[in-house]
Amino acid sequence: MSSEKPTRKSDIVIVGAGPAGLTAALYAGRSGRSCIVLEKLGVGGQVSLTDQVENYPGFPKISGQELAQRLLDHVKVYDVPIQIEEVQKVIDKGECKVAVTEDAYYVSKAVIIATGARPKKLGVPGEVSFYGKGVSYCALCDGPFYKDKVVAVIGGGDSAVKEAVYLSHIAEKVYIVHRRDRLRAEKALQESAMRSTNIEVLWSTVTDSIDGTDHVTGITLSRLTTGEKFHLSLDGVFIYVGLAPNTEIFDVEKDQEGFIKVNGEMMTSVEGIFAAGDCMRQCGGRTWGQISVCVGDGAKASISADEYISRKLKR
Ligand code: NAP
Repeated sequence: MSSEKPTRKSDIVIVGAGPAGLTAALYAGRSGRSCIVLEKLGVGGQVSLTDQVENYPGFPKISGQELAQRLLDHVKVYDVPIQIEEVQKVIDKGECKVAVTEDAYYVSKAVIIATGARPKKLGVPGEVSFYGKGVSYCALCDGPFYKDKVVAVIGGGDSAVKEAVYLSHIAEKVYIVHRRDRLRAEKALQESAMRSTNIEVLWSTVTDSIDGTDHVTGITLSRLTTGEKFHLSLDGVFIYVGLAPNTEIFDVEKDQEGFIKVNGEMMTSVEGIFAAGDCMRQCGGRTWGQISVCVGDGAKASISADEYISRKLKR
């Protein structure tokens, strides 16, 4: 370790301040462990990019930003510091772990990784070059630019359908482009989309390219049932084709898609390093993408980290 950077010590370092990380922080604070949360962007993770949340228990309807704020306010009750700093790597030194940022070394007895996931890329021509010029992965952030315009949402899962419904209140017309003949999204979301008079689903259709000049003007599509290719004139494209985990910097065991593997106690392949939320998968499991699940994971990881410190390190 370079002597130029300060060293900061705590019992637990939590990487990421989404619902999983904030819940882990809340539990760590309540258990009397010293703890710090390191977050590279803003607090709340994907939740703060969600318009309305309707399935978080106890809150029949709450905006994503308000829910994130409430989680943060709850953590503040226990004086857990949240530092906006990007973790570059975590070094395992046995009984101590070191989270390295540009500004400091954060030395702790346990680390909880709660870095979440980001939208996957569709991987078609035009996606990269038109990013920010008609291609978006965030309806809440960019939707207002499309008032009374025509947009497409690519994907058929919860995110695609939920965001298509959100966009239908802004745009004149919303196409959902889905590669199959049935949506993956939960029934309540599907029903909500079907009730919208300005949403049209293009079934069994894939996107070949995103087209335009200095801004998106349309997409080229193929109908899988007939092989027909056609052009759809549009002002914007919102891509929701799944999530990729933010786990590249961590030297722990992962599955083929990069999700961190954890055991029943949320511990990774490295003793004393835990993971929670959308960045991980429990043995043989899947990603749930539910705030309530992330919150539960965060609680479990934090309790396990506390017990690990007591049991293994006798502190
Ligand atoms: P997801 O559930 O993985 O769905 C991805 C969708 O994109 C699927 O419909 C998939 O098609 C389609 N897709 C994947 N690759 C594609 C490609 N290359 N070309 C075209 N289409 C492609 O992802 P998600 O919707 O982002 O949701 C992630 C997790 O968060 C899920 O667990 C979800 O339940 C959860 N979530 C929940 C809510 C909620 O309010 N309850 C909201 C958002 C997200 P196929 O269906 O054919 O596979």
